[in-house]
Amino acid sequence: MNADVIVVGAGPTGLLLAAELGLAGVRAVVVERLARRSGQSKALGIQPRSAEALDLRGLLEPLMDRAIQRVDGGHFAGLRLDYTAWNTRHPYSIGIPQGRVEALLEERLGELDVQVLRGHEVTALSQDADGVEATLLGPGGESRLTARFLVGCDGGRSTVRRLLGIGFPGLDGKLLSVVADITISDPDGAVPETWTLPVMTPDKTGKGYIAPIGDGVHRFLFYGAEQQRLSRDAPITEEEVRRALQHEFGPGVRLTGVRWASRFTDASRQVERYRHGRILLAGDAAHIHSPSGGQGLNLGLQDAFNLGWKLAAETAGWAHDGLLDTYHSERHPVAARVLANTRAQAVLLVHDEENLALRGIMEELLRVPEANRIVAGMISGLDIRHDLPGRPHHLLGRHVPNLDLVTASGPERVARLLRDGRGLLLSTADEATFAKAAEPWSARIGRAHAQAELGADAVLVRPDGYVCWAGSVADVSGLADALARWAGAPARPSSPVTTPE
Ligand SMILES: Cc1cc2nc3c(=O)[nH]c(=O)nc-3n(C[C@H](O)[C@H](O)[C@H](O)COP(=O)(O)OP(=O)(O)OC[C@H]3O[C@@H](n4cnc5c(N)ncnc54)[C@H](O)[C@@H]3O)c2cc1C
Repeated sequence: MNADVIVVGAGPTGLLLAAELGLAGVRAVVVERLARRSGQSKALGIQPRSAEALDLRGLLEPLMDRAIQRVDGGHFAGLRLDYTAWNTRHPYSIGIPQGRVEALLEERLGELDVQVLRGHEVTALSQDADGVEATLLGPGGESRLTARFLVGCDGGRSTVRRLLGIGFPGLDGKLLSVVADITISDPDGAVPETWTLPVMTPDKTGKGYIAPIGDGVHRFLFYGAEQQRLSRDAPITEEEVRRALQHEFGPGVRLTGVRWASRFTDASRQVERYRHGRILLAGDAAHIHSPSGGQGLNLGLQDAFNLGWKLAAETAGWAHDGLLDTYHSERHPVAARVLANTRAQAVLLVHDEENLALRGIMEELLRVPEANRIVAGMISGLDIRHDLPGRPHHLLGRHVPNLDLVTASGPERVARLLRDGRGLLLSTADEATFAKAAEPWSARIGRAHAQAELGADAVLVRPDGYVCWAGSVADVSGLADALARWAGAPARPSSPVTTPE
């Protein structure tokens, strides 16, 4: 085998997945069709749950350094959401062009010595019980690459998905939109100069949004009557962009250049299964939907986070039977929910009389704190709770809160304890008992003891930050079950753990 895992596509999903694999010591290679990064940015926002995930690996700080702006809360079809009702350190959307996120992740791959094979396109695939073979077309012609697993992170028009011969069921798009990165001259100040994205505040009857995205460039998104008449493949002309710009912001605004433009629809589709033997799908290759709410890139990043450590466990040979299949069972419902909420947002974005009436009601409802909290949890990803086995506990299946801790060696934060990509057993009582219980897994599970308001004597946290056991010392046998399920068979047979009298 040339590698343990071939990752197809160096978009945000593929790059983060490869970083997770590299951190775990997996031999991964990324195959990317483009010879160099395009520098174009579809997405502009990182949601709180992705921020929490990136924080677990020390990637949040450098990302914030490259961000344009932090915007409090988020939005649902442009209606404001308050994220502070959720227990997070990051109740905001981070405004950062997708290209900068990709550049940061690719730098991380360099540090981890994971190769990105640029200018190579996957054109054919085969798999058997032992591995996968990919045919690549590159500058030197055709070549073959073999690995134990392959993950298609190759975007909405995924070749891997097509080569698997599987469907992509869902709904065709109804609304045609254009996204364009433009330069303008605006002597009368008709265009907002502060970044209100992703909380977009257009004239309610308008059909376009604009936001400055740095270097004198504005992101302009529009979906007026003209766009609905044109075909998806129609070239985007400067004239079309100018007409939309002046329709929205008046004749005083002049278009001085179009850096990049793309036409897209609000089609929403999702594959039925994320795993097909040794080939898996992640990010837009597995699900597409309209960009409303700014969720697509975030879904892809979190797919990568969920899958990375499970694939690493599988290739290292310690994964419990069925661990890899939990990637599908956990992440498929999360994306299905995003598809549903973007379809609902699409209705609120079409400004005919009936839809405006519905939008008005929704706006009123979102002023009710509990309603706002529910929708905020949905869009931010903060409400994700995996259905995990084990004794019920309010933390089970939820992301671990990033608490401040007092440890014997000084102040600490939970997120920092997960930087090495291993799971974590964090205890606040009965340190010796928990230490003994987890000792046979010490190569895969870090341990920490601290004073903190955890709501449990100890929690077992998976490498992706989700709590897979929470309880007291009386339930230490439940902890052993959880360790075996999520961290594999013990490296050494465990001695029986006895509960203190
Ligand atoms: C206008 C717009 C605005 C958006 N705004 C947001 C937002 O604010 N927030 C948000 O979260 N999301 C947003 N999104 C969605 C987001 O951009 C996507 O969800 C994200 O790009 C998906 O990342 P990915 O890595 O899965 O796929 P992609 O970014 O599509 O990357 C796939 C990669 O695979 C490569 N590739 C394809 N085929 C092959 C092949 N055969 N061999 C090798 N390589 C191949 C491609 O060249 C590409 O580099 C927006 C999307 C649009 C269109």
